[in-house]
Amino acid sequence: MKAHDGMYIDGAWRPAASGETIDVVNPVDEQVIDRVPAGTAADVDTAVRAARAALPGWAATPPAERAARLGALRDVLVSRKDEIAETVTAELGSPLAFSQAVHAAVPIAVAGSYAELAATHAFEEKVGNSTVYQEPIGVVGAITPWNYPLHQIVAKVAPALAAGCTVVLKPAEDTPLTAQLFAEAVDEAGIPAGVFNLVTGLGPIAGQALAEHPGVDLVSFTGSTAVGRQIGATAGAAVKKVALELGGKSANVILPSADLAKAVNVGVANVMSNSGQTCSAWTRMLVHRDQYDEAVALASTAAAKYGDRIGPVVSAKQQARVRSYIEKGVAEGARLVAGGPESPSAQGYFISPTVFADVTPDMTIAQEEIFGPVLSLLRYDDEDDAVRIANGTVYGLAGAVWAGEEAEAVAFARRLETGQVDINGGRFNPRAPFGGYKQSGVGRELGAHGLSEYLQTKSLQF
Ligand code: NAP
Ligand code: MG
Repeated sequence: MKAHDGMYIDGAWRPAASGETIDVVNPVDEQVIDRVPAGTAADVDTAVRAARAALPGWAATPPAERAARLGALRDVLVSRKDEIAETVTAELGSPLAFSQAVHAAVPIAVAGSYAELAATHAFEEKVGNSTVYQEPIGVVGAITPWNYPLHQIVAKVAPALAAGCTVVLKPAEDTPLTAQLFAEAVDEAGIPAGVFNLVTGLGPIAGQALAEHPGVDLVSFTGSTAVGRQIGATAGAAVKKVALELGGKSANVILPSADLAKAVNVGVANVMSNSGQTCSAWTRMLVHRDQYDEAVALASTAAAKYGDRIGPVVSAKQQARVRSYIEKGVAEGARLVAGGPESPSAQGYFISPTVFADVTPDMTIAQEEIFGPVLSLLRYDDEDDAVRIANGTVYGLAGAVWAGEEAEAVAFARRLETGQVDINGGRFNPRAPFGGYKQSGVGRELGAHGLSEYLQTKSLQF
C-alpha cells in the first residue's frame, strides 16, 4: 500500500475497518488500475468524529488564516496539475487535453476564488441595532459523482473550508483516485488534521451512512435525482440542511436571427464534450421550423467530425444505459442522423457521437437525462412555442440562447425556468452561482452564493 492508498481520516492514511477494497477500472481498456478501501458505516463514524473534533479550532481560525491555507491548497493543485489530469484520464477516460484544460484547470480557479473570498468576505455586518455574524454551519457531509471528479470535490470542500466548516467526503466509486490525490494536496497545504476527511466506498453503504449520520450538519450532494430525492428526505426527517445538485435536460435555443452554423457547431461541441457526461449539457437543440433541415445537416456533419475523438463513458453500466436510451429514441420514432446504439469499438465503454432529428417534446429522449454523447433536435413554430418546449421538463439547470442581438437573447433567457443561461456562447464563469430550478436541485455552488450555503447567521441586538 502506497502512502496515499488508504482513506484520509484525522490527518492519517488508513485502510477500511472491514479490510475490503473496490477495484478502479480504466474505461478505455477495461483494465483494473488500482484498488481503494471500501469504507463502511464504521469508517464514516470515525471520520465524522474527527471532523467534529476539529470543528471548534477551524471555525475559530481567523478567515485570513483559512484563506492562506486555501491559497496553499490552490498552489499544490497547480504544482500537481499534470498528475491530476493523468489520474482523471486514467479513471474517467477523458482525453488528456480535456483533462488538462478542464478537469485540472477549473478546480484550480475555484480553489483560488475561495482563497480570495475567505479573505475578503464580510463575516459580520450591522443591521440597525443588530450585529449579524455569519458562522460556519458545522460538519459537512459531501457526496460527489464521477463526471467532473475534482471540480465537484473542490466546489464543495473549498467553500466549506472558507466558511470554517469541517468536511467528510465520499467521492464516486468510479473516480476515487482523484479524491485521494486531493486529500494528499490538502495534507501538503498544511490544513489541520480532521478538517478534511476522505472515506472511499459505495454509495448505498458509505454514502448513505454519511447522509444519515447525526454528527453531520449539512449534506451537500451532486448526482442523480433518484439518490438526491432520498438524501433530501433523510435530511428533512433530521431537520438538517441539504444542498442538491442534480440532473438536467438543458435547452439550446437558436432564435431565427442567430448565426445558425456557429450556434449548431458550438451546441454539438457542448454535448460531445466529456462524452456527454455533463449535468448542464445542452442536450436539446431547439430550432425554428424554417431553419430546421439546415440545422439537422449541420449537426450531423459536426457530430461525425467528432468520430473517435471523444473518450468513452465512465463504466459498462453507463454505456448500457446510454445505449438503451438511443434504442428507445429509435423505437419512439426519432430519426438517427449521426451515431447510433452500436459500440464503435470492441474494447472500452465507447458510444458514437449521436444526433437525433424529428424529436418531439414528449419523447423519452427529450425528457430524461441520458448522460452520454446524444443530442436531440426539436422544432419550434414561434417564440412562445420555444419557451414552452424549453421549459417543458422537470429539470431547470442550464441552457443557451443564440440571437443576432444580445438584447433579444437576454429577453428570451429571462423567460427560461433555469439556473444559468449562456448568451451567444458565453463562457463558463467559476464565480457565478451554479444550481438548478425545479428538480435540478436545491441551493447554489460557486462564488459568494456557494460560500453562503455553508454559513448560518446569528444576530446580536444592542
Ligand atoms: P449517483 O448514484 O447519484 O451517484 C452520485 C454519488 O452518490 C456517488 O458518490 C454515489 O456513490 C453516491 N450514492 C449512490 N447511492 C447513494 C445512496 N443511497 N446514499 C448516498 N449516496 C449515494 O449517480 P450515478 O449512479 O453515478 O449516475 C447515475 C445518473 O445520475 C447518471 O446517468 C446521470 O444522469 C446522473 N448524474 C448526474 C450528475 C450531475 O452532475 N448532476 C453527476 C453524475 C450522475 P457510488 O459512486 O458508489 O454510486
Ligand atoms: Mg451509483
